[in-house]
Amino acid sequence: MNAPATTAVESDVAVECVAVQKSFDGTPVLKSIDLSVPHGQVMCVIGPSGSGKSTFLRCINHLERIDGGLLRVAGEMVGYREHKGRLHELRHHEIARRRADIGMVFQSFNLFPHLTVLENIIEAPMAVRKNQRDDAVADARRLLDKVGLTGREDAYPRMLSGGQQQRVAIARALAMRPKLMLFDEPTSALDPELVGEVLSVMKELAAEGMTMIVVTHELGFAREVADTVVFMDGGYIVEQGAPAEMFANPQTERCRDFLGKVL
Ligand code: ADP
Ligand code: MG
Repeated sequence: MNAPATTAVESDVAVECVAVQKSFDGTPVLKSIDLSVPHGQVMCVIGPSGSGKSTFLRCINHLERIDGGLLRVAGEMVGYREHKGRLHELRHHEIARRRADIGMVFQSFNLFPHLTVLENIIEAPMAVRKNQRDDAVADARRLLDKVGLTGREDAYPRMLSGGQQQRVAIARALAMRPKLMLFDEPTSALDPELVGEVLSVMKELAAEGMTMIVVTHELGFAREVADTVVFMDGGYIVEQGAPAEMFANPQTERCRDFLGKVL
């Protein structure tokens, strides 16, 4: 790992990437990613399939190890602990502790099929945060209300629509009180008529000041909610800027092409 030895830690930055690289079997997937997401902001990531968007989120969430560059979440390096100017690999429990502060929502919901809605939501707060069951249940009910699913506590995931399952997945992530929420194409697996209910929960979350990185093809959502849009292609950030500006006036041929296909 050839991370720069000294870099100033900006406390107002939730996610900071400097020249982040990631390869699989010698094939570079993230070639050199530079970006920063200030606390409380929403960044939408767009780009063609295979451009490295999911890999990027997975690196932020400690699910992949970067091969080069520097990646910090809430001022802490992903994968490493700094001590007296030296880097030490994180131990398993240290990774678990840092991951607990990051919520992730996947395209495929990923709820536990054998657990009820309520059990899905209270599982991690009890197992990881060591919350008391009564507190976890009270919190879960509050979150179910927030995502519009009061009364569905005892349902199993298979009894719910895709939109409802995704709202449970968001409630489950929020139950850990994350500092950062990552969304990987959260509405791509949904029937069109169910997309809006999930996006409106995400909009509310953004309005409350949650820091969010959202990989999405929903340009309407990006235009309305994102502070910044990043266009990725071929393992690079090709463009980034305010959504209205980028959508109206893309600076590169590749971005223009992509927007033409998605809009
Ligand atoms: P996106 O989310 O933008 O569609 P991904 O990050 O999923 O892109 O994938 C980028 C590239 O990395 C693709 O070529 C994909 O096949 C490859 N890739 C992703 N994960 C792995 C992995 N675990 N092993 C090998 N190749 C991978
Ligand atoms: Mg992907």
